[in-house]
Amino acid sequence: MIRLRGVSKRYAPEGPCVLRQLDLQVAQRAYVSLTGPSGSGKSTLLNLVGGLDRPTEGRLEVAGQDLGALDEDGLARFRGTHVGVVFQFFQLLPSLSLLENLRFAMDVVGAVPRAQRSDRARALLGEVGLADLADRLPSQVSGGQQQRAAIARALANEPSLVVADEPTGNLDSASAGRVLDAFDAVVQRGATLVVVTHDPAVAARADRTVQLVDGRVVTDVGVVS
Ligand code: ADP
Ligand code: MG
Repeated sequence: MIRLRGVSKRYAPEGPCVLRQLDLQVAQRAYVSLTGPSGSGKSTLLNLVGGLDRPTEGRLEVAGQDLGALDEDGLARFRGTHVGVVFQFFQLLPSLSLLENLRFAMDVVGAVPRAQRSDRARALLGEVGLADLADRLPSQVSGGQQQRAAIARALANEPSLVVADEPTGNLDSASAGRVLDAFDAVVQRGATLVVVTHDPAVAARADRTVQLVDGRVVTDVGVVS
């Protein structure tokens, strides 16, 4: 599903190498947690595999596409059809209900037929335990519930890959636990899931844990080939 060969990243031509010659392969339907100290390059790596940024060097393939060969429009299309993103601070649109947030995500990409969007949004919200809150605004639900809605939204366009950057970083442990349950919906729907986290509870659920230090992989536990 994801293949990196000799991938390096610098943010400026003379700047430091934030990722150093990474080789990494992730199987389809894997659940990978990405850990490591602050500044080790976790978010940078997640942004590369999610098509949000590009490598400086090396080859990066995701879902059979060579991301280095895509221009900005191509990358945007790649993200729309293949990637769901979950942020630390949820980033739901505040003036839309949870259901409308999901429907809007489908409207933007246009892959799900219009007539199916509302039912699909309701079904996805149900899968993350939010069936009863579908018509609430984000401000009318808790942080953990917003994050579960964001996970449902990430699934709206049937992505083959879901990436999440410290999705429980802003939640108490009970809410975080329910957010982790919601990630089960991602796995059950057959998507590959990569989660950047400091939370040992996430790493415990993942089937593989990759640890970065200074832009290099230092441990890689649970690899399934
Ligand atoms: P992590 O997510 O593991 O904390 P990051 O990938 O955010 O690490 O950052 C890795 C390194 O790259 C850090 O030294 C950080 O300061 C630098 N960095 C991250 N984003 C940028 C950017 N947009 N411009 C310049 N440097 C950046
Ligand atoms: Mg980060």
